Amino acid sequence: MSVPLRQAIRVGSYVVKQHLLGRKRYPLVLMLEPLFRCNLACAGCGKIDYPAEILNKRISVQEALDAANECGAPVVSIAGGEPLLHKELPEIVDRLINEQKRSIYLCTNALLLEKKMDLYKPSPYFTWSVHLDGSKAEHDKSVCQEGVYEQAVEAIKKAKAAGFNVNINCTFFDGTDADRAASFFDDVMAMGVDGITVSPGYAYERAPDQQHFLNRKKTKDLFRAIFRKGNGGRRWQFSQSTMFLDFLAGNQAYHCTPWANPTRNVFGWQRPCYLLGEGYAKTFTELMETTDWDKYGVGNYEKCADCMVHSGFEGSAVKDTIRNPLKALKVVMKGIETEKPMVPDISLDKQRPAEYVFSSHVEKAMHEIHEEKDRLKQGRAAAE
Ligand code: SF4
Repeated sequence: MSVPLRQAIRVGSYVVKQHLLGRKRYPLVLMLEPLFRCNLACAGCGKIDYPAEILNKRISVQEALDAANECGAPVVSIAGGEPLLHKELPEIVDRLINEQKRSIYLCTNALLLEKKMDLYKPSPYFTWSVHLDGSKAEHDKSVCQEGVYEQAVEAIKKAKAAGFNVNINCTFFDGTDADRAASFFDDVMAMGVDGITVSPGYAYERAPDQQHFLNRKKTKDLFRAIFRKGNGGRRWQFSQSTMFLDFLAGNQAYHCTPWANPTRNVFGWQRPCYLLGEGYAKTFTELMETTDWDKYGVGNYEKCADCMVHSGFEGSAVKDTIRNPLKALKVVMKGIETEKPMVPDISLDKQRPAEYVFSSHVEKAMHEIHEEKDRLKQGRAAAE
């Protein structure tokens, strides 16, 4: 139950170096969203309901390289939207791996994977991270389209046959059945995937379906029930730290470390995290230095109350592993506790109420797009 060894060593030595340098906050995984356009419209997605002008925007090759360079995280997770719709993505991936020595997770719904596979090369530093939220019935329901599961499974098999690393990236919502989730993990391991990334869904303000997100108590109960089934000798390989999984099972009470997974998208650097959009910074340094981090997190802010998402808490788990290696080793050796009482959760008594600020950056971006269009029009008129 752990991340692949090669990546664990790379990330582990980076984290130890940050500790030795005395850095309080540092990034682990850059969440790069080079576009929001997608070829699906999933009910739980908070990323795709922007105006067409925003959906048509792309992060350029240079912007992507600059973002990774400025941030310095050893891992880049490329998400979206559907990244395979971005025409320059093969160049971005190639240069991030070969010029900057980053490990890449390319998140995709796999609808275009077979068609675009030849544009990418198998490498120990490149992993397809295929979105699958469960077996056929659950996944097709989650993505609101029939037949997507079968296409994704076919693409996974072809990618494995071509020599690629393949990871499954799944999000569980309220109503997930532990037995079915455990069988799904068995199925994907039987497909030969290299790892599973699992997370409870975050209740995005922009998601069309607000009814089926998990709260923290339900999340912990669900993951305990799933891990209980895994403790009987099933061999599930997760691409996450064991301590994050222990946190999902209610055995750790972490505060989030959103700066560990900073997000760069077409608006800029998203504040404070991948999940909340409460303003944007122009640079990574500005994000780190001017975000009031203490205003966010469980117990601090109403919008964070139910969050246990990997992009918010994997960094906390990694930090805990480095600080308390014996505790982490014990969990690795004994397996995740599923029977003893859970640790008390962080109190929500003093959290500040939610502020609804999510549309101001959209209005600003629309204004800039229209200004740019007017400038081009005036330039053309002057040239005629
Ligand atoms: S708890 Fe942390 S990671 Fe989760 S939404 Fe709040 S700030 Fe983001």
